[in-house]
Amino acid sequence: MNTKAKWIDYEHGVSCIDTEIFRMGLASCYLIRQGEHAAFVDTGTSNSLPLLLQVLDAHGLTREQVRWVMPTHVHLDHAGGAGALMEVLPNAQLLVHERGAAHMIAPQKLQAGSLAVYGEDRYNSVFGDLKPVAEHRVTVVRDGDVVALGNRQLQFIDTPGHARHHYVVWDSVSRGLFCGDSFGVSYPELNHGANRFIFPPTTPVQFDPAAWHSTINRLLEFSPQYVYLTHFGRHDRVGQFAIELHQQIDAYVVIAEKFAEAAQGGAVELAALLMQHSCQELLQQNQLKMPIDAIRRLLNDDMELNAQGLIHWLQRR
Ligand SMILES: [Zn+2]
Repeated sequence: MNTKAKWIDYEHGVSCIDTEIFRMGLASCYLIRQGEHAAFVDTGTSNSLPLLLQVLDAHGLTREQVRWVMPTHVHLDHAGGAGALMEVLPNAQLLVHERGAAHMIAPQKLQAGSLAVYGEDRYNSVFGDLKPVAEHRVTVVRDGDVVALGNRQLQFIDTPGHARHHYVVWDSVSRGLFCGDSFGVSYPELNHGANRFIFPPTTPVQFDPAAWHSTINRLLEFSPQYVYLTHFGRHDRVGQFAIELHQQIDAYVVIAEKFAEAAQGGAVELAALLMQHSCQELLQQNQLKMPIDAIRRLLNDDMELNAQGLIHWLQRR
């Protein structure tokens, strides 16, 4: 963890903060500023807290001015730091999807679930203990709800597909969608010229391809100019991202179904197939000139998580 925060200031009072989970450039959260008011979308982990506060300070904002904390969903790279953040923001209210709220108030089950996904060593070094948020500071938001940040309206959209406890925030000032994981993952290291590489995070345990396709189409109805991805940063090729994400979800389903038919191997073998597919896309379609070992290192953890999520999906389908 660096002591000096790294962030990008975009237009419209939006800043993308690197939450420094696992490595730089992997996960972010966003600060939205409107006049005297501020809000965070996603929180990183409790280890990210000093970084978020530095960026708040750098913009001349006090902790008292933060009105909303909005974890897009309760996976720990997005909401793990919510409890610690809420402790230091006296006037903030936590806005959570109805399926996620109980986990923010009593995080034990969430912690146990994440321990199972990441393993104890990795979990402890990255996420640590989760702090509960007092019930009266948690407000459930539902599809279509709108909150005000000064004179700025933020609208919540229910976005199942990656997780059933996921919402996306529509910001009409920037014409941007704060997408969490609902619009896929695109790492800056894999940009090549105009080409971007995007893939669906099929993390356990609620991957739902049909719902995800509908979610993408629904999000496009807002005619967004930008998507703000937690992994990673703001992007303006929204239409292209949507097409590619649809294709990648379908490709994942095909790979998973073939894998199930062959009935050979487990998550390790499926992860290898996903990696092969990703490398193929990157080297052929995106013409990325990066050593294959470097691509593998960069995507290794994601492919493992994606394989675990797909196996879970195959079993409960
Ligand atoms: Zn997630």
